Amino acid sequence: MQNINSKLPGVSTTIFTVMSKMANQYHAINLSQGFPNFEASPELINLVTQAMKKGHNQYAPMPGLLSLREIIAEKTNTLYDSNYHPETEVTVTSGATQAIFTIIAAFINPGDEVIIFKPAYDSYEPSIELFGGTIVPIQLKTSIFTVDWKEVEAKITSKTKMVIINTPHNPSGSVLSKEDMLHLEKLLKDTDIILLSDEVYEHIIFDGQEHQSAALFPGLAERSFITASFGKTFHTTGWKMGYCLAPKELMAEFKKVHQFNVFCSNHPTQYALAEYLKTPENYLSLPNFYQEKRDLFLSLIKNSRFTFTPAAGTYFQLLNYVEITNEGDVAFAERLTKEHKIASIPVSVFNLNQQDDKVLRFCFAKTDETLKKAAEVLCGI
Ligand code: PMP
Ligand code: GLN
Repeated sequence: MQNINSKLPGVSTTIFTVMSKMANQYHAINLSQGFPNFEASPELINLVTQAMKKGHNQYAPMPGLLSLREIIAEKTNTLYDSNYHPETEVTVTSGATQAIFTIIAAFINPGDEVIIFKPAYDSYEPSIELFGGTIVPIQLKTSIFTVDWKEVEAKITSKTKMVIINTPHNPSGSVLSKEDMLHLEKLLKDTDIILLSDEVYEHIIFDGQEHQSAALFPGLAERSFITASFGKTFHTTGWKMGYCLAPKELMAEFKKVHQFNVFCSNHPTQYALAEYLKTPENYLSLPNFYQEKRDLFLSLIKNSRFTFTPAAGTYFQLLNYVEITNEGDVAFAERLTKEHKIASIPVSVFNLNQQDDKVLRFCFAKTDETLKKAAEVLCGI
């Protein structure tokens, strides 16, 4: 047997695959992996069909269809008072995951330090590790998920190459405030540190709060890659379409890698998205749409033994179960799936040293019918 010198010896199958598989196997309601169980707009689906029928079935331009990049720049510049140029500062990607991977590939060298906040979305660390980067994790405060900027300041060294933030935040549902972003802007001033601002849930934010995009802060925007996902925004996670934004010098480096990573993303879908984005209501309606789902779910489980703080953004709700059992969250999530037929994500897998706060993540991007069934199960536990 050949000796396989694994580049990722500590990595196993992602928890999203593990839990969705278990949910299917045990016929459980799947509130684990984050995806809607309702259809995308028929108009959007029709637009893709039309684009295919019109023959847009060959390679798209490498950085993306210009009309799509134009409307993305227009949307961003309108929402965040920024000035992204469609030709040089916007690239269409195959989901945010590909953008994140490509950013890390383009900039991280062996020995570079990358500050990330835990619990962290699970693609960041393996990507950093693959390119020899050193992960510098900072655990967010238990249950409130706020950043201690003094700790961040203490962790910045001459080797810090990148900081990764994610707001609204998966899995906690917390959001960074304007003050947070101003703190970060101050800390990064006069450094060469790149900010990767993962904003895939930019349009899923509740209770009248405004998304604090890195694009809004000039001192951040000048050093930032911002990643976005059409999967999240238009209920089409299976299409794996997204984009990233960055100043042109940074984007030029990104494209050097992107062109050999995927070359380009799905072409007919880009035609459809360019058209669909012309109606801002298609994304501006999202806060209300998902807030109703959050509120329905929480109102139905308020008398259960799970406790919670309502998510401020994303389509994930954390539920604390200390009043139910002492079991570890991985074991409890497994038992809930097998015995109670409801699947969730144990949050410890995203934490520093697998810190277990007895919290599970539930995705509420589901039909009201599914949420009602799920709530019934949860209330019986
Ligand atoms: N970042 C975060 C925080 C996510 O939750 C996700 C999950 N979808 C992604 C990136 C990846 O997005 P995409 O599906 O567009 O690759
Ligand atoms: N972002 C989704 C989640 O957090 C899943 C993405 C994936 O399956 N890789 O559940």
